[in-house]
Amino acid sequence: MKEFFCGAVVPDCTARFTGESEEAILAQVARHAHDDHGMEHVPDSVVDEVRAQIHDVE
Ligand SMILES: [Zn+2]
Repeated sequence: MKEFFCGAVVPDCTARFTGESEEAILAQVARHAHDDHGMEHVPDSVVDEVRAQIHDVE
């Protein structure tokens, strides 16, 4: 399983996401960015940052 903490990209955000693949996490992050950070669209540069911070967990 993979894991991502939004706080790795957005300081002070405590949201945590887990999924079976990067794509599964990115889908959750896109929804979270829209709902909680008011981002209409997640720029490619941010997607790259998110991908870089996704790591494997047991
Ligand atoms: Zn967040």
